[in-house]
Amino acid sequence: PKKPQDEKYEIPKELEVKEKVDRIPGVPYIDYVLVGGGTATYNAMLAIREQDPKAQILIISEEDQAPYQRPPLSKELWTRGASAKELSFIDWQNKRTSLYYTPKHSFTLIHPNENLNDKLVASQKVYLYNTTVSKLDPVRHTVTTPNGEIQYKKVLVATGGAPRKPNFLQNIPEAVKEKVSTFRTVEDFQKLEKISKKAKTVVVVGGGFLGSELSAALGMNATKNQKIIQVFPEVGNMGLLLPTYLTKWTTNKLQEIGVIVEPETEVQSFNHNPETSKVVVEIKGKEPIEADHVIVAAGLQPNTTIAKNSGLEIDPKYGGILVNAELEARSDVFVAGDVCSYHDVVLGRRRVEHYDHAVMSGRTAGLNMTGQKKPYDYQSMFWSNIGPKVSFEAVGILDKELPTVSVWSKDGGEQHGQGAVYYLRNSVVVGVLLWNLHGKIDQAREILAKQDKVKDPNLLAKVIDVHQ
Ligand code: FAD
Ligand code: NAD
Repeated sequence: PKKPQDEKYEIPKELEVKEKVDRIPGVPYIDYVLVGGGTATYNAMLAIREQDPKAQILIISEEDQAPYQRPPLSKELWTRGASAKELSFIDWQNKRTSLYYTPKHSFTLIHPNENLNDKLVASQKVYLYNTTVSKLDPVRHTVTTPNGEIQYKKVLVATGGAPRKPNFLQNIPEAVKEKVSTFRTVEDFQKLEKISKKAKTVVVVGGGFLGSELSAALGMNATKNQKIIQVFPEVGNMGLLLPTYLTKWTTNKLQEIGVIVEPETEVQSFNHNPETSKVVVEIKGKEPIEADHVIVAAGLQPNTTIAKNSGLEIDPKYGGILVNAELEARSDVFVAGDVCSYHDVVLGRRRVEHYDHAVMSGRTAGLNMTGQKKPYDYQSMFWSNIGPKVSFEAVGILDKELPTVSVWSKDGGEQHGQGAVYYLRNSVVVGVLLWNLHGKIDQAREILAKQDKVKDPNLLAKVIDVHQ
């Protein structure tokens, strides 16, 4: 056999350099295919069109919806002036805003069983195809849908995640199956909005972002005859993130708006009471609770089926699809948003399940799909509003296991009404929480970027002014 050092050594065909994608006869082709129809995809689309205004883009989404923002589903859509029918709300600038980034008719719609070849025309278009991608082939540059393959030049996987389903969601008696639900989509909102008008008792399971925001929203809208009960395993609301005293303070604020909060409560199963037709929430070591409806908010499971079917690498620690600093998993395969496990050059490997990250990672992936080579080194922020007294913004890693240094203001007269909490790892600030303190997020980003050792924690009192 010829050896590599021989002059006439032939390069195997698969290792020849190719400039272009080899088109497969009969298979529809489009330059940019974006899988998933959420925030990350929408922002990738904007970035691609910014760089390449004539680009043809195909968005493939399982949800029969134009891309929309999810944060208002548990906040603004429950407040005064919101319209559940029109899916619009009054934003922080007092403007009526739609949940949708842009109306559905601004896309060329392709229905699940339509033939793509019949739809593609050579003009500047963004197509929205309502179907599911099961896998992709990074070598042949194809994605597979129930209707067959589609070839791409560049593909984005921004499939987000689905509500995590703990064991107690299995084996629910048929009679009450409809009375136990999860919450992530427009349909979930519309269903809960209707239920919340009639149900006497709603139980919310989960004490994280979603469980706490929804409990507050339902609590603030409840009439005198309605009960909102929130149950979760932690010692207080947002207990996986906040120091113990602050998680308890937050629980207290939910109780002030009328929510019955039951911390340190473990749901075991759901049963049916045939006499009342209600769902019975069975709880370890405690009395069961009867409810008209139960919402389970027990975290997020990243949607990685495509990766599993396509041999893409999955992060064994955080879940999600592993990418490099440019958000590329394989050549021409990019990943962004909730489903992406990326290398944060300051804080190490992370997977972030928040809006600002979906926007900026989507944008970075979109730019890189057009040939830029931008590292994703943006430090995204996140926020939450839980009733009228709790509103926070944060950057970096918030983990109740980390030591914290907190600085509080006496403004407003409450002990923990306004302040900043610094999360330390090996004496370096890795997370900053701004509690009822706004407009300071860039200062928090600067602190993270520095990665200085904190020699004297008292000095942190001078870093961000907590008196607004
Ligand atoms: P997603 O928005 O989940 O979109 C993924 C899309 O991909 C979905 O449409 C899905 O149906 C589709 N899809 C999945 N698999 C396939 C497939 N195989 N083929 C085709 N399509 C597929 N973050 C904050 O920072 N602040 C907040 O206040 C806040 N509030 C929130 C409130 C709610 C109720 C929820 C649910 C989330 C909230 N978040 C908030 C989190 C934020 O909305 C998410 O981080 C963001 O939506 C992630 O965007 P994404 O594009 O990665 O994924
Ligand atoms: P989360 O990760 O914020 O909270 C998970 C919660 O699940 C835990 O706090 C715990 O109480 C609960 N849980 C886990 N296992 C449980 C079990 N066996 N029994 C009972 N409870 C259990 O997730 P979430 O609150 O479900 O939110 C879903 C997704 O939506 C997340 O990605 C979240 O980041 C996102 N979201 C974000 C915001 C925001 O950023 N403001 C708001 C709403 C939703």
